[in-house]
Amino acid sequence: MRSRHSSLRASRPASRPASRPAAYTGALIGALRRAVCGVAGATLVLAACEAPAITRPAAAYNPTTLTGGLLYRWRSGTTVHVWTVTESGAPMDLALAVRQAITQWNGVRQFAEFTLVPAATIGEADIVVYDRASAAPVLAGSCPFDARSAAGYTYFCPGSGVPQRAQPLSLAAGGTSAARVVIRVDRGRVDAQRAYNAIVAHEFGHALGIGAHSDHADDLMFGLPTAERPTARDAATLRFLLGQPAGLTL
Ligand SMILES: [Zn+2]
Repeated sequence: MRSRHSSLRASRPASRPASRPAAYTGALIGALRRAVCGVAGATLVLAACEAPAITRPAAAYNPTTLTGGLLYRWRSGTTVHVWTVTESGAPMDLALAVRQAITQWNGVRQFAEFTLVPAATIGEADIVVYDRASAAPVLAGSCPFDARSAAGYTYFCPGSGVPQRAQPLSLAAGGTSAARVVIRVDRGRVDAQRAYNAIVAHEFGHALGIGAHSDHADDLMFGLPTAERPTARDAATLRFLLGQPAGLTL
């Protein structure tokens, strides 16, 4: 049996305004550029004025439908370290699926808003990826993980500070971790490596800020993905949200 869908789980804040429309950010950037360029005689400033204007695509779908309107993402410019729990002899290659997902999502950035890289140790990981067949490498802390079976889950636990940030998670083996996002996939719910790759890549979309499912079956962020890579619609949605103010930073 194939899984019904993959899911995103995050606690919902009591009150959170919806993300601002793209026009707001565009207008703000435009005003700042005019102000800076109004300073005469500064070579560096004039050089900056010649840079191409930052324009963002419209989202192909609302990226906050699974989070009650909360827009979350990594702080711009973050190098996001990914740790993958691997098992020798496992019937599906999780490391392969993660490598593909990293390459694909890095490839659809508009600028260097994030850079996914493999982590050298679990201690430096920002995202931890594991299969349900393995022991959980991190503890859920104050946000209980959803125990329901699904092909994939992406978790983070909102903190209480303002501005809000996801909480760091503890390592199951003891010690602290920088990890704030956990991806759990279930190879028992897929029948081939290709389907496994699709689920892993889909969950990375959630881990980068797409808190939604597309209603287009061809999109990677469709609830039951068959695409192995982000489509133009997925890319546009990510590029849009990366230019928006975040209600929560991962
Ligand atoms: Zn999903």
